[in-house]
Amino acid sequence: MSGKAVARGYAIGRAVVLGAAALEVAHYRIGADDVQAERERLTAAIAAAQADMHHMAATLPADAPRELGAMLHVHELLLGDPLLAEPALALISERHYNAEWALTTQGQSLVRQFDDMDDEYLRERGADVRQVIERVLMVLSGSTTLLNGVDNVDGDDMLVVVAHDISPADMLRLRGGRFAAFVTDLGGPTSHTAIVARSMGVPAVVAIGNVRQLVRDGDMLIVDGSEGSVVVNPSPAILAEYREQQRRYAEDRAELALLRDETATTLDGITITLHANIELPDEAALALQSGADGIGLFRSEFLFMGRPDLPDEEEQYAAYAAVVRAMAGRCVTIRTLDIGSDKTLDGEATVATNPALGQRAIRYCLARPELFATQLRAILRASAHGPVRLLVPMISHMHEVKATRAAIASAKSELDARGQAYADEILVGAMVEVPAIAIAIEPFAQALDFLSIGTNDLIQYTLAIDRGDHDVNALYDPLHPAVLRLIAHTINAGERVGIPVAVCGEMAGDARLTRLLLGLGLTEFSMHPQQLLDVKREIRNAHSNALRVKVAAILNRALPVDLDTFNDA
Ligand code: PEP
Ligand code: MG
Repeated sequence: MSGKAVARGYAIGRAVVLGAAALEVAHYRIGADDVQAERERLTAAIAAAQADMHHMAATLPADAPRELGAMLHVHELLLGDPLLAEPALALISERHYNAEWALTTQGQSLVRQFDDMDDEYLRERGADVRQVIERVLMVLSGSTTLLNGVDNVDGDDMLVVVAHDISPADMLRLRGGRFAAFVTDLGGPTSHTAIVARSMGVPAVVAIGNVRQLVRDGDMLIVDGSEGSVVVNPSPAILAEYREQQRRYAEDRAELALLRDETATTLDGITITLHANIELPDEAALALQSGADGIGLFRSEFLFMGRPDLPDEEEQYAAYAAVVRAMAGRCVTIRTLDIGSDKTLDGEATVATNPALGQRAIRYCLARPELFATQLRAILRASAHGPVRLLVPMISHMHEVKATRAAIASAKSELDARGQAYADEILVGAMVEVPAIAIAIEPFAQALDFLSIGTNDLIQYTLAIDRGDHDVNALYDPLHPAVLRLIAHTINAGERVGIPVAVCGEMAGDARLTRLLLGLGLTEFSMHPQQLLDVKREIRNAHSNALRVKVAAILNRALPVDLDTFNDA
């Protein structure tokens, strides 16, 4: 069977097939005299499920994946939403449906609304509604979990959980112990099963569609979380082959872990800086675990998103200072608010014109001087605790650089007047993500202390393809000669002027592109902490100067570079 590979690795174990309460409920009509009691039964079950979620979130074990708390909270909120309970209660009163039938009917209507959404992330949130409903159905049936009996499966084999879908609450029960992999009918790369499996380091294949029909309890399964395939009851030869792959994969991860404290130095002695990208303050711990030299991109907008109000100066200061302190003297690059385009604040309508070309990032901040000043003061104050670099997104004009410098100077004066401390030296840099500044880079390189190339947006704007539009996904090509020349041009300007240039877009974390980026002269990479050691290994096996010669020879070609040929030769 094949599905979507969402968490890497190989697992071999016995299947434990979980029931799906929602698929197996009784539908019947109740008598007119029972309406009130049935309504109360449903209300009480929803309240009990909600209390259960609340209790689970409040008593999470210290080693639980950190996403689980947030997910349980979302489920608690969904259970409290009148959109779930009220239409279901009306079905009991008006049509005399039993509680289970009323709830699943309303649930299906909500799930359909999610299924119709264009955005993949929002579409997958329909799974939350489904899981919340399963929870209430379990309470109605007198059971508390889909996992009854799972803990008591005989034997010592590792277990592979096979389910229609798995809720965060049940994921919590499956932590550790004998659970070697997850396989589900539903889900996608941003579903809970995927997110939690990745943070647990357990392979997972999702979106198989009908796995519960094809697998029985006790079947032997091979789960290949790298390719997205599942083999049921394999022959001894296939089993042996996968055991070998599993062994090699484990060896490879163990070998990579040894590189954590080694420097990222090429064979010809050039030491590369490896930074981590983070979105929330507590990810600094992951960055340290991966051996990062510092934070190359702290996407501060995540502090502002998913809430009705704006974080004030104290809240922002606490968040930035927490990262600076955690990184203990390593450099922390805090990017000012990059809101607009696909990242919007709650309650703010997206504009009808193309938001990617609209008032986004620095344009948004300069149009809201108070909001910008609050963030700048918070960042400046965090610099009292360790080295901070300030990174400005979406710069395309020199007057934006001047306006930003002026805003920083006035934020400093305010702090002086209040007697609040900040570092003497705070480096100010720009994201290079609009083709215009990459082409006319010289004055920007002279006016700024460092540059960081945001290849995600640079590719989007250079090739005129929306990075979130599935229909043009295939045209999103980091190897397009125009993209590579813009990167090369920016790095060369940095070398001439003597300022550091980093890449912090997804290209930096793709180990297949490491040699190409070294050949373009890149000496600073910033990426998700999980990717850091793969990239470090590539660097340690590369000869930087030979790669520079090789890239110079292909840079003016008309066709995209063939990566396999480039990496093999
Ligand atoms: C980029 O554009 O490459 C980048 C790193 O920023 P973001 O993905 O947040 O737009
Ligand atoms: Mg960007």
